[in-house]
Amino acid sequence: MFDELIRKLRQLEQGVKVPIQIPLDENGCFDRKCPWDECGVEFKVLFEDWEVKVREEAAYCPICRHESPATEWNTPSQAEYMEKAAMAHLMGVVDDGLRRDMERFNRQQPRGGLVRMSMSYKPSPKPILVPPDVADAMRQEFVCEACACRYSSVGAAFFCPACGHNSALTTFAKAVESVRTAIRSLPTITGAIKAAADADAAADAERQILENGLVKLVASFQRVAEATFLALPNASSFPIRRNLFQNLQESSDKWREATGKGYEDLLDAAEVSDLRKFFQQRHLLAHVEGIVDQQYIDRSGDHAYSVGKRLIIKDSAVLRLGDLVEKLAAGLRGL
Ligand SMILES: [Zn+2]
Ligand SMILES: [Zn+2]
Repeated sequence: MFDELIRKLRQLEQGVKVPIQIPLDENGCFDRKCPWDECGVEFKVLFEDWEVKVREEAAYCPICRHESPATEWNTPSQAEYMEKAAMAHLMGVVDDGLRRDMERFNRQQPRGGLVRMSMSYKPSPKPILVPPDVADAMRQEFVCEACACRYSSVGAAFFCPACGHNSALTTFAKAVESVRTAIRSLPTITGAIKAAADADAAADAERQILENGLVKLVASFQRVAEATFLALPNASSFPIRRNLFQNLQESSDKWREATGKGYEDLLDAAEVSDLRKFFQQRHLLAHVEGIVDQQYIDRSGDHAYSVGKRLIIKDSAVLRLGDLVEKLAAGLRGL
């Protein structure tokens, strides 16, 4: 009697593919969420690239580089939506089987007899499909240098969701941007700390933000200079020692060996001299808590300080350094 229903249910037992239309945003991007509890960041990937470039076994979080199979990156609203869509599909299959069984039963009833039997079946109401909220338009867009996957996140992203590649270039650009933003926000930040604590705490915070900004800019530049150097077609002919790019003169010489041009060809004399001073200041901040020694004065040519004084990092200096490393990194990319 329920042959058709049973046949349909058997088919379901074999596994079904439920056709689901996942809503995308107006740019064709697909909302994703890092499945690692500690991170859980939401980001977007161009749907086309998610389908073509992301392997089934692994996708990567652009912020923490957590690795999980491609099926595990649904946002909560997508997971709910897919569950409802799957349910709707299954109910449709069951309803269809029951309806056919009823029709056959009714057809088989003898007509014109004394007793007429018929059965009817009322389909179950289908759950309503609610598309996930289309999240805000993307804020920062990235294209992976290694596999060309297009993705976006709110704030900096460090890894490609498709191949896990870490982009030194992208990280550098974002570091410069975030240091500038921090400096622009200094009055707000120190104002808030002054209100919540006191003027001492606010001054400490300001000094820390400026010193961190300088250290971060030098470190990100060193990294991008090394990555750009290693991408030169003839890089393998010029072996580099560990931490070579922490040394401004030595790395400039290495660039000159490989390309015929050093940092002095990309910056003017005043710029090179300032950059040298900032590199030496980073060294003091990173190793001796900013206390000036003779080596600093000799190497930087900065006679504003005597031995034993502590560095004063001004916002104008950090902004100048940001402009210098940006200019130099762009020049190196063009070599
Ligand atoms: Zn993550
Ligand atoms: Zn990639």
